[in-house]
Amino acid sequence: MEGPTLLPPVEPFRIKVVEAIHLLSPVEREQALKRAHYNLFNLSSEEVYIDLLTDSGTSAMSDRQWAALMLGDESYAGSRNFRRFEQTVKGLTGFPYLLPTHQGRAAEHIFFSSLLKRGDIVPNNMHFDTTQEHVRRNGAVPLNAVVREAYDPRSEYPFKGNMDTGVLERILRDEKGKVPVVMMTLTNNTGGGQPASLKNLEEVSRICHTAGVPFYLDMCRWAENAYFIRKREEGMASKSIREIGAEIFALADGATMSAKKDGLVNIGGFVATRDEKLFERMRELLIVYEGFPTYGGLARRDLEAMAVGLEEAMDIDYLDHRVGQVRYIGDLLDAEGIPFVHPPGGHGIYLDAGAFLPHVPRENLPGQTLSIEIYREGGVRTVEIGGVMFGEGKDMSTRLELVRLAIPRRVYTASHLAYVAETVKRVWERRDNLRGTRMSSASESLRHFTAHFEPL
Ligand SMILES: *Cc1c(COP(=O)(O)O)cnc(C)c1O
Repeated sequence: MEGPTLLPPVEPFRIKVVEAIHLLSPVEREQALKRAHYNLFNLSSEEVYIDLLTDSGTSAMSDRQWAALMLGDESYAGSRNFRRFEQTVKGLTGFPYLLPTHQGRAAEHIFFSSLLKRGDIVPNNMHFDTTQEHVRRNGAVPLNAVVREAYDPRSEYPFKGNMDTGVLERILRDEKGKVPVVMMTLTNNTGGGQPASLKNLEEVSRICHTAGVPFYLDMCRWAENAYFIRKREEGMASKSIREIGAEIFALADGATMSAKKDGLVNIGGFVATRDEKLFERMRELLIVYEGFPTYGGLARRDLEAMAVGLEEAMDIDYLDHRVGQVRYIGDLLDAEGIPFVHPPGGHGIYLDAGAFLPHVPRENLPGQTLSIEIYREGGVRTVEIGGVMFGEGKDMSTRLELVRLAIPRRVYTASHLAYVAETVKRVWERRDNLRGTRMSSASESLRHFTAHFEPL
């Protein structure tokens, strides 16, 4: 068959436990929006029908993971669950020093606080919101150095998570001595869940090491990134996800991880490194902020479930379905000509709100407006990734004004996804009537979580 078939990917699992969901009436949804001050983070989950706010910590665990929880050895120190977790992560990444944390941002906190000083510069392909905040809180400057194709939602460039190596080389030359680490985020969450190629990772690693600067990964969605490398990069089709992972991690000096993504757990994370001195400094902070190094802010049973989840995330049937689900929504939206970041990413569809609502000026928040409207139309919760999350100055404009439909892992079926596409299509059909939104109150940092809004 040629082109998109609009046939949904078949779930590579059957359902053993169910959780009821219910669609509120239009009047109830309107009341919920008002009460939430038009910030979808303030909705209660019963007010949401299909929740695509995030893929973080929202996965369904497998029967094997639930069974693993029963093997919890809740010893304060030296739990056997830690040993299994450690073996799994070290086997996967080859990083010799490992600290568990309760989630990704705790790993970022411990990593950056141990490494950065005021005036430092941290290049990344594109910073995620919490990563950027941790860099800033340590007095350093986050710089995005992603390839320029990443800023063109219509470009089909297959590796929009790649670092612009020319820009990176210039930063390392001009800011010599001020860059204590270079990071790459796999996949590029802020820019559409887009992967980096192995070739680009190799070049970045070489550039960093020539300049004597360590190279770290934000490996939250490393398995999805490896899947794209397998599909799109020459000579990789016969390699397993584990083998591709080994090649990726061999290039880096360490990583931070939110296991709420490709760890397939509801809470958990870690930081890993090859640098013994850094490890010792991080371990001190870990004990102050998270807990003893053999549990790091988690129940020991969580470490066991994480070890199983990290293995399951490499399964090719699982990844075919996962990435296939995202592509399926993309194909349904493409059939209507609805603009989103192409090609479809690994964990979600990112609607191009700027192109969806070209008549809404940036200061009237087209992304926020669109995400509110998608909830109003069908009870589907999404998240703005644009001016509210990243914008600065009066008009709050960002290079990309997006609305992310993040797909939780193993949670929704193809009919849920078809419903989501239909909901977006109905908003698309009446887009000319949408006017925009005003931000009526906001906090200093990470304001998207708590800001209040009013419709215009
Ligand atoms: C989710 C995420 C984080 C932070 O992880 P949490 O577990 O939410 O604290 C960091 N980087 C990226 C790319 C992420 O997607």
